[in-house]
Amino acid sequence: MSVEPHGGKLVQRVVVGEEQQRLLKEAKAFPILSADEDTLLDLENIAVGAFSPLEGFMTREEVERVAAEMLLPGGEVFSLPVLFQQHEPPRVAPGEVAAVQDEQGQIVGILEVQDVYRLDLPALARQVYGTDSAVHPGVDLLYQKGPYAVGGTVQLLRFPTHPYRRWVMTPAQTRGLFAQRGWQTVVAFQTRNPPHRAHEYLQRLGLEIADGLFIHPILGRKKEDDFDSETILRAYQLLVARFYPQDRVVLAGLATAMRYAGPREAVFHAIVRQNFGATHFIVGRDHAGVGNFYDPYAAHRIFDILPAPLAITIIKVGAVFHCAVCGGIASERTCPEIHAMRRASVSMRTIRDLLRAGKTPPPELIRPELVGVLQKGLEGSANEVIP
Ligand SMILES: [Zn+2]
Repeated sequence: MSVEPHGGKLVQRVVVGEEQQRLLKEAKAFPILSADEDTLLDLENIAVGAFSPLEGFMTREEVERVAAEMLLPGGEVFSLPVLFQQHEPPRVAPGEVAAVQDEQGQIVGILEVQDVYRLDLPALARQVYGTDSAVHPGVDLLYQKGPYAVGGTVQLLRFPTHPYRRWVMTPAQTRGLFAQRGWQTVVAFQTRNPPHRAHEYLQRLGLEIADGLFIHPILGRKKEDDFDSETILRAYQLLVARFYPQDRVVLAGLATAMRYAGPREAVFHAIVRQNFGATHFIVGRDHAGVGNFYDPYAAHRIFDILPAPLAITIIKVGAVFHCAVCGGIASERTCPEIHAMRRASVSMRTIRDLLRAGKTPPPELIRPELVGVLQKGLEGSANEVIP
């Protein structure tokens, strides 16, 4: 038994062998579309099936349906736009095939142009992010990438180079690995942070209910004050090696930008993890939120109002904290309200602030064994975050 990819089949648009060589040669004569790093990562995600059933960057029709109804024209749920944005009107027309280049001028893939259009970015931001404020990092990123967009199916000819390539697995690879381990059920854990005690509590919960735990941190672009990807992965490596049954855990990175779109991104994250072969997905308090932009439980409620059900099972978890009376990590469902005054929130912001102030965060917040990794991360931090 394994969970079907979203839409029924795993999209596969990576071209190899003779066909790849032929297309690389031909593509030199194609009109060129330049892509930034985030867009290249998503081209790869589309091509390996991580964003199934998407076979390309969205056309205007797709963007409008996704923004308004959270549906693709084929009837599948999809909650975030996946865009090939441009600052200037693109010099390609529907029907043409374009070569997609990275910022060094290397051809990475091809795009069969179906649509060239102009976006109303503030309107799109309001629909998807619930705000058009550029203070929101996801909205800011949407604005930064320009108002024009090219839609069409893609083929990947070369895997883009990035510093965390060795951490990335394709959906076909994780599905193969889960099958090889004989896992019937796999619970996926999304994160953009190194693990603290509350994360660990949720992961252990996952290990109790499923055959395997799939830890899948975001390795793409994040906010300036988030930890860099290398630090996150090193901390997880240490946690898994020393404290988890290693044969029940898979750690791999998901190379895509954080959107901080709260509830909409929770749905997107669930769909992507289903494509990687997870049967269950943990959604905590304020999943993929930022600042006070979202109600902390909007990311739970959205799964109850989707236009169609998802195949992946959502595990909704409330606020998790350290309670001095309970004597450990607890949640609103396990710790009585009369302890409220003795609860301490476990947040990466608190841990980071303590570290920046030269203090050692207490073991109730983070395992002492991980502190050194985080300290190093802060010192040499952030080679791929927003400048
Ligand atoms: Zn308590």
